[in-house]
Amino acid sequence: MSTKEKNAGARGVSAPPPLPLGDLVEPLLLWYDRAHRSLPWREEPTPYRVWISEIMLQQTRVEAVKPYYDRFLRALPDIRHLAEAPEEELLKLWEGLGYYNRARNLKKAAIMIEETYGGQMPDEYEELLKLPGIGSYTAGAIASIAFGQPAAAVDGNVLRIIARATMDDGDIMDQKVRRRVEKDLLAVMPQGRAGDFNQALMELGATVCIPNGAPKCAECPWHDRCRARIEGRISEYPKKSPKKPRVIEEKTILVIQDENRTALRRRPSRGLLAGMYEFPSLPGHRPEEEVLSYLNTLGYRAIHIRRLEDARHIFTHREWDMIGYAVRVDELDRPEFEGNAPFLFAENGETEEKYPIPSAFSKYAQYIRLRLGTERLKEGEQNNGGKSL
Ligand code: SF4
Repeated sequence: MSTKEKNAGARGVSAPPPLPLGDLVEPLLLWYDRAHRSLPWREEPTPYRVWISEIMLQQTRVEAVKPYYDRFLRALPDIRHLAEAPEEELLKLWEGLGYYNRARNLKKAAIMIEETYGGQMPDEYEELLKLPGIGSYTAGAIASIAFGQPAAAVDGNVLRIIARATMDDGDIMDQKVRRRVEKDLLAVMPQGRAGDFNQALMELGATVCIPNGAPKCAECPWHDRCRARIEGRISEYPKKSPKKPRVIEEKTILVIQDENRTALRRRPSRGLLAGMYEFPSLPGHRPEEEVLSYLNTLGYRAIHIRRLEDARHIFTHREWDMIGYAVRVDELDRPEFEGNAPFLFAENGETEEKYPIPSAFSKYAQYIRLRLGTERLKEGEQNNGGKSL
């Protein structure tokens, strides 16, 4: 006996008959034609525009993506420009969106399209899957929306709404369940409207059958069909295995400046925030004395130190719990480093244009942007106390 039957038996009612997915297609498309939002990437769904939008939307809300999308398209209007863009320009355009590997993969894929596909985005699902950063969801979205190919585009939103509508007990974190849903959706894909069908599923998940908070069932085109709603069991779907807890990492961030410059360093070329710029930091939460003694070991003489606000940044599997200090030193670039300085030195006013600093550091990056020169920082030091040394 299935879980559904057991639950229904326990409640003294018979389980509803399974809901054929095909019954959901027409009401969904009618609703989409009437209610879909007008979004910049829907206006002219060229392969490039669909691709860029889908990559940006992977981890970011629609409203947050819009200004980034417009700016990106203005700076890099096509595949060739993207392939030729210097990495720092690209990361700068991406700054604030997070998950920077998405941007790097865009460039790698653009180079591959230029070299292998004559500069034209491939229109086949299987070929799209060969491009860096393109998984089954994005390949399905591009193939269906930009090329009208019958391909499913299944992400967490789609899994959630299908699980609710059909009371599917599969664990949506399980790849086998995802593949099954892709296959089932492909089997009912409406001819000639694959792109609209996929976008309608995404739209329903984003605006009506939402992930957090109560779904807006009264507005839903599946209101009279949805099994979970009819059974009063929406909160039980989708089924999901529990996530592993995030690793919490404590850090002490150091905004080290002299009269004209700020110390930065480049993160390693692999791993979290690869290749981005960051402030020097120490592991753990360090008291002022330890920060000063660390600077001493580097040969810096601190003139002034001040505690900054605490900050927290959450990544998918990791959380940074940060405290910070602003430290004024007499001179950053010391002759005794002889070309082996532990940091690089960003000139005042240069940082914003030249060095992509990930949003994880935004609480501390404001201290270099705010000052645009030393005056504002000096003001801040006076207002916020701190200690002259
Ligand atoms: S009726 Fe409600 S729970 Fe069911 S799919 Fe629609 S919004 Fe989601």
